[in-house]
Amino acid sequence: MSKTKQFKTESKKLLHLMTHSIYTHKEIFLRELISNASDAIDKRHFLSLTDESVPAETYEIWLTPDEQNRTLTITDNGIGFTEEELINNLGTIAESGSKAFMEKNDQKDLEIIGQFGVGFYSAFMVAKQVTVETRSPFSEKGYRWNSDGESTYTIDEIEKESIGTSIILYLRKDDEEQEENFSEFTKAYKLRSLVKKYSDYVRYPINMMVEQSKDDQKVNEKETLNQMIPIWKRSKNDLKDEDLSGFYKHQFSDYEDPLKVIHTSVEGMLTYTALLFIPKKPPYDFYAETYEKGLQLYSKGVFIQDKNKDLIPDHFRFVKGLVDSADLSLNISRELLQHDRQLKKIADHLEKKIKSELENMLKHERPKYIEFYDAYKHALKYGIYDKFGLNKEKLQDLILFKTNKSEDYITLNEYIERKQIDQKAIYYASGKSKEAILKLPQMDLMVEKDLEVLLFVDDIDEFMVQMMQSFQELPFKSIQNADTDLLDETKKDALKEQEKEHKDILKALKKVLKDKVKDVKLSYRLKESPVCLVSGEGLSLEMEKVLKSMPNAQEIKAERILEINPDHEIFKSIEALYLKDKDSIQDYATILYHQALLLEGLPIEDASEFSSALTKLMITTSKK
Ligand code: ADP
Repeated sequence: MSKTKQFKTESKKLLHLMTHSIYTHKEIFLRELISNASDAIDKRHFLSLTDESVPAETYEIWLTPDEQNRTLTITDNGIGFTEEELINNLGTIAESGSKAFMEKNDQKDLEIIGQFGVGFYSAFMVAKQVTVETRSPFSEKGYRWNSDGESTYTIDEIEKESIGTSIILYLRKDDEEQEENFSEFTKAYKLRSLVKKYSDYVRYPINMMVEQSKDDQKVNEKETLNQMIPIWKRSKNDLKDEDLSGFYKHQFSDYEDPLKVIHTSVEGMLTYTALLFIPKKPPYDFYAETYEKGLQLYSKGVFIQDKNKDLIPDHFRFVKGLVDSADLSLNISRELLQHDRQLKKIADHLEKKIKSELENMLKHERPKYIEFYDAYKHALKYGIYDKFGLNKEKLQDLILFKTNKSEDYITLNEYIERKQIDQKAIYYASGKSKEAILKLPQMDLMVEKDLEVLLFVDDIDEFMVQMMQSFQELPFKSIQNADTDLLDETKKDALKEQEKEHKDILKALKKVLKDKVKDVKLSYRLKESPVCLVSGEGLSLEMEKVLKSMPNAQEIKAERILEINPDHEIFKSIEALYLKDKDSIQDYATILYHQALLLEGLPIEDASEFSSALTKLMITTSKK
């Protein structure tokens, strides 16, 4: 008795899309089914190494076209499906390609469908009915799955001796009007050319019986359609960019070409080939905890593991790809693999290789590097900060900043090259945006002195330089921090003199603001602005903002120092007023402090206090 089941909703949508996709993209169904067959064989082979109930085989994929009946059958002796797997894997959209496609695309967007790894469902682009006959080594029975790709499918028990899967496609009728010629897929020449085009590197033979004339007799002979050389084992000169991008898109479910391909072979003490890709954009879950980094691992062309985490360091976790090494023992368990010394060495090589490729890109292909950097800068910066700065030396040449003097990104080395001769620090300023930073009151002095300031707009930036501390022996210094480094000794003395002179008003301000700031000082750096807020030792104001915005934020506060511009009119008039009327200082202090908060991009701490101080002053002045 057959069981009839409904497809999940998403699958229905996808099925609809498939059948209405344009013809030239439909031929990729063969690539998808062959690659599923090859994956299934990989799985069986891998299991056979450790599980006695899974017998090994001479692995093959067969294409069996039938012109008379308009069918094409794809057969593999891979792992097969249990009944449950048929329901779970073919009744719903499987992970990866098809799902990503559904998430990213408008239903109307049929143009790019062929670039996706849309998997099994692509069979319905060319077939009005699909039958899957299969047996798993873990099941006594065989099963037949059957569907017209509309909304339901059936599953029946069948007698099946051999382990593996046959997928029978009942091809659609050729559509004269749309010039769709589905019967082509039963022709040997067409199948030959499709395998050559899309599946040549599949590591198992893709066979077909073909009629040959021999001594005037027609005989059937086996023909193997693919070269079976994995793409990464082919010589670089034979490989076209399209070959590599096509392989990448299919293998790693992306619809865009990779930003960068790194293809490297090493021979000697350690022999391996690596084919690495940097995607143009980080995957949608790149910053989620669920994102898994890792490279595929092969041994002599045989698949071992999908995402080996140990092959790639966290700071390069955006790199996708694979490693094939003859030096790995296939019989070791996956747990042991983690501690494999060879693997560790390969990982070290790869890290160096990726770094040097990125440095080359930075040097010779700046626009491309910037595209890369904009996509992955957080990973690099976090890499510098992470593990107490363990990897900072490796990564510091790869980071870029915009500055008050440069619209374009510059490297830290470039900053050093163009700094002033006697400059003793690398200056930076933090804020929400470039515009906000350039308007900081603290910036005036830097502009006056013609000093270059790195603009920090990412949350991680200040945390990162705290780990770095210095670059080429020059310390990083925030211009929003209270120190007087930029003053020469005579000016420092002059400032001290001035503070003595105005000590009464400063003391009075400090008294009013005693719960809010650690100190009130005269400023040497302000030009236009009457006040600014700077941080003392330790945590900066910007870091306070970041930490406060995190989930489970603790009550954390940077040390605040209010700096007042001694040359500003407001200071002079407040002081004059204070000498006449000691109480007047209260409201001015409150307003000046809040003004400084706002300039720094911090929220008003006590809105009612601020508002009532402002109101009182407005009343006084309006009465005059
Ligand atoms: P994807 O390959 O992207 O996971 P598919 O829709 O192509 O999605 O396939 C869904 C699942 O069905 C696969 O992940 C695999 O587990 C299983 N599958 C597909 N084809 C075969 C096959 N020939 N033999 C065994 N299992 C298969």
